[in-house]
Amino acid sequence: MPSPFAADRLPDGSRRYGHRAVVARRALLLGVVGVGAAATAGVVLGGDDGGGDGGAGRAVAADPATLPQAQPAATTAPPAAPAPSAPPAFSTTDAGSPWVVVNKQHPVDPVEYVPPALATVAGKQVSSVVAPELTALLAAARADGVRLALTSGYRSLDYQRGVHARAVAREGAAEAERYSARPGHSEHQTGLAVDFGSTTDSGCTLRDCFAETPEARWLTAHAGAFGFLLRYRPEDSAVTGYAAESWHYRWVGVDLVQRMAERGVTTLEAFFGVSGGPQYA
Ligand SMILES: [Zn+2]
Repeated sequence: MPSPFAADRLPDGSRRYGHRAVVARRALLLGVVGVGAAATAGVVLGGDDGGGDGGAGRAVAADPATLPQAQPAATTAPPAAPAPSAPPAFSTTDAGSPWVVVNKQHPVDPVEYVPPALATVAGKQVSSVVAPELTALLAAARADGVRLALTSGYRSLDYQRGVHARAVAREGAAEAERYSARPGHSEHQTGLAVDFGSTTDSGCTLRDCFAETPEARWLTAHAGAFGFLLRYRPEDSAVTGYAAESWHYRWVGVDLVQRMAERGVTTLEAFFGVSGGPQYA
């Protein structure tokens, strides 16, 4: 399906975002003029994966950054209740939806789902709906002197089966379950999630020290402007069911990032009133 945010793309349809274009685009998307102020949803850094390969160790959280409040997007300001006051604009159960919630309670459905269209960005496959924003994000980072690496994008059911089995073999089941999703439960299978890596400290790939890298700091400040949500914050582990992963971002689109920020909600589970947590259904 086409990106629900196609209208946000540059008028000429270009996907080669120069710095000026990126700045203009961020200002457009966030209603913020300054580049640095375009901050984000989110916020803190955390460990891998609800799709997970890697990580071990503790996450170091950072500022529960304040988020831009002045947005025209929301018509009403619902109370901070779990259930939304209006039906979501997109399905939270359709694996192809930008707002799908995949966690230990809610597997990818159908379990053998494959995104209908995949695109390759920086050598990794992602759902084609993610590619324009991901490409723009990488270009914007480069323009700011930050060279992000992409460590993981789309992962098939079978690939995730191997990832999880290796994690269990390496760490033991109890530890592996903290960060590695069982097959059929990984956001990576939707093609909507990516793991970023550091080029300044590649040893921190999929490790908690990624949170301390310039790349992670840039993402914390700017990923939300491109529709990416830091999915596994350290303080949300009980809700998401995963240990912190400062490298795992989930594309949900700028509109939802803004809505979540306006309500001060940091997880998809809380925003949509969907169950989560560390226990598998
Ligand atoms: Zn991941």
